[in-house]
Amino acid sequence: MVTLEFALSTVINKIAPLNQSEIVPLWESIGRILAVDVVSDINMPPFDKSAVDGYACRKDDLAKTLSVVEVIAAGKMPTKSIEAGTCSKIMTGAPIPKGADCVIMVEEVKEVSEDEISFTGTYIKTNIAPFAEDIKVNDIVLKKGLCIEPQHIAILAAVGGSHVIVSEKPTVSILITGDELVETDVKPKMGQIRNSNGHQLYAQIINAGAIPVYNGIVDDTIDATRNAIATALEKSNIVVLTGGVSMGDFDYVPSVLKELGVELLFQTIAVQPGKPTIFGVKGNKLVFGLPGNPVSSLFQFDILVRSAIKCLMGASKPTKDIIQIPLASDYKRKRSERLALIPATINSLGEVEPVNYHGSAHIFALAKANAMIIVPIGVDSINKGEIVNVRQF
Ligand code: AMP
Ligand code: MG
Repeated sequence: MVTLEFALSTVINKIAPLNQSEIVPLWESIGRILAVDVVSDINMPPFDKSAVDGYACRKDDLAKTLSVVEVIAAGKMPTKSIEAGTCSKIMTGAPIPKGADCVIMVEEVKEVSEDEISFTGTYIKTNIAPFAEDIKVNDIVLKKGLCIEPQHIAILAAVGGSHVIVSEKPTVSILITGDELVETDVKPKMGQIRNSNGHQLYAQIINAGAIPVYNGIVDDTIDATRNAIATALEKSNIVVLTGGVSMGDFDYVPSVLKELGVELLFQTIAVQPGKPTIFGVKGNKLVFGLPGNPVSSLFQFDILVRSAIKCLMGASKPTKDIIQIPLASDYKRKRSERLALIPATINSLGEVEPVNYHGSAHIFALAKANAMIIVPIGVDSINKGEIVNVRQF
């Protein structure tokens, strides 16, 4: 049995990035991992630019009445220099005319006549964004390994990145074991339940940025399990199985993986839920065996498999952040030999509150959950208001 921290670092350290990239149109790069550094082809601002709507003039002239020599719209070049006693009306984003060293805001100006103004303010700010203060040509604006978010799309757009070089998506095969399982469109008979994990995994794989390959429900026999795993190993980068990894009479997954030459790096984790979680490698192929209960599968995928997918794509930050916030109510547990992951919600006060939860089969409790409270090994009670580690999912 290993700790969850050890399991996660084993996964991260074992995985080398695939180093395969593809070029996609800008809009399609959202959520993808950048495969190269991106450099700027421009200076930003490209010229000394007005930061406000107002009048470009000389600071020394602010006590005088100034005559307006032209109006400079954004996108237009000034045609007149600013001489003593003159100014140009200027819009936000327009180039500063020669001779001006400040822009007074339109709100702090009074019209003296049709083409004369005077400054009514007291505090003088320059209001000029100088040439290249944000970015210079050839500066790196985004680093390889970044997961592209909307603000990065803006940066790419600003530097002419109409196409973006991103890491190829790994493929992840889903194998569901369990003779008690039927698919969604079937009404379960006595003794049966619907397969929820398979579809949850499909959604999680897409969210993690990979390509799911759904292989359906595998019979709980050694032959069927072996054939399904062998085929999935050939056609995908990662194989994720659920069920059949525990101590039951029909839990064939660990023995079949060994038979197929998969090196198992851990088989049980001191965590609840998710104790019977397996990770193995065969060459550059990765296999995860997740427990059958949907909450266990959800959490262990989110922590381990998601990180594996990000590592394969060369993400510079493969794991999610842990946040520290106060607990909304007292927490107690009877046994503390495993780390506990408690489904919870973050309330409007910024506290984290456990949801009403009957155990790892209780997927319905997760309808309201968006976070897990991490209770360390050895801790059996936490008081309301104490700061706890929380992982959002
Ligand atoms: P196992 O890990 O195979 O021992 O299964 C543990 C529990 O999870 C059992 O109650 C299974 O019926 C349930 N289970 C297994 N696979 C799934 C699945 N794909 N969807 C929903 N529940 C499952
Ligand atoms: Mg089973």
